[in-house]
Amino acid sequence: MPRDELPARWAAHHALGPGREFDAVRAMLARWGDLTRGVGDDAAVLDVPPGERLVVSTDASVEDRHFRRAWLTPGEIGYRAATAALSDLAAMAARPLGLLLAITVPGSWRDDLEAIADGIGDAARAAGAPIVGGDLSGGRELAITVTVLGTAASPVGRDGARAGDAVYATGRLGGPLLALRALERGERPDAAYRDRFARPRARIAEARWLAERGATAMIDVSDGLAADLRHVAAASGVRIVLDPDSVAAAAVSGAELADALASGEEYELALTAPRSARVEALEAALGVAIARIGRVEEAGAGGGGVELAGAGEGARVDLPRGHDHFSS
Ligand SMILES: [Mg+2]
Repeated sequence: MPRDELPARWAAHHALGPGREFDAVRAMLARWGDLTRGVGDDAAVLDVPPGERLVVSTDASVEDRHFRRAWLTPGEIGYRAATAALSDLAAMAARPLGLLLAITVPGSWRDDLEAIADGIGDAARAAGAPIVGGDLSGGRELAITVTVLGTAASPVGRDGARAGDAVYATGRLGGPLLALRALERGERPDAAYRDRFARPRARIAEARWLAERGATAMIDVSDGLAADLRHVAAASGVRIVLDPDSVAAAAVSGAELADALASGEEYELALTAPRSARVEALEAALGVAIARIGRVEEAGAGGGGVELAGAGEGARVDLPRGHDHFSS
C-alpha cells in the first residue's frame, strides 16, 4: 500500500516515531492483505443489513495480566486477543461485521509485531471478520484491545433462560486450565491442552446455528463454566442445576469435574434451550461436541445461582467464582 494511502488513524500517534510507526503499520497491513476493509479514511463506514441490529464488544489483552510472553508465541498472543473479542460476538449469536484494534507495543516487542498481526489475521479470517481500523502506540507493556462489530436479527442475551430449559455446553472443557497449571509449574503442557489454551475457536457459526434452533440464553465460557453460568442465572432470574456426571463427561480427557467447572478462556458456548429445540444435533451438523449438562429451575426461595445436583437441599457446593482482574 503506498504511503499516501495509509489510514490516517493508524499514523495518528507518534510514540514509535513517525517513520517507524508508519513502517510498522504498513507491515501489518501487508500481512493482512485483503482482510482489511475500508481502512484509509478517518473512520470506517459499515453497512448494517436491514432488519438486523448492531452488536458491539471490546476486549483488552494485557501482558502479564492476560498472558505471559514465555507461554505463547507472538502469533498465538495476537490470535487469542482477537478470538476473545470475537467470542463475545458468538455469545450473542451475531455475525461479525468488522474488527478494530488498539495496540500498545513496547520496544521489546516491536520485532514481533508482524507475527502478532498474523495471529490476529488468522482469528479474524477464521471468523469472517474484516479488519476495518486500528490504532498503534508505544507503551510499557504489550496490550492488544480488540473491538468487534457484528449484526444479528435476534441477538441472544444472558437473560432468556426459563425454568424447564436444559443447559448445554459446546466442546470439551478443562484444557486451558490444565495447560495453565503446567505452565505455572514451569512444565510443558500436554499438546492437546496447550492447543486448547493457545488456539481456541470463537464459536461464531455454532452460535448462530444454536440461536436458529431456539437457544434462549447464551454466554461464552471465558471465566469458567460455573462463573459464566452464574451470570446467566442472575440475568435470567433462575436457578441453574448442573449434573456433575454430565459436566465431568464434557471435560477433556484427564480433566476432572472441578477443572471443567473452573477452566476459563475456553471460548466454548454455554447455553440454555428447551429440550424440544434438539440442539444436540449441533455435533452432526457442524462437527462440534455439545453436551446437556443441567437444567434450569425457578429461582425459588433459595434464590438463583448455580448449583450441582445431588448436593442436598440448600447445600451450596463451593463452585469456582472466576477471575477478578482487580484482585491482585
Ligand atoms: Mg463473554
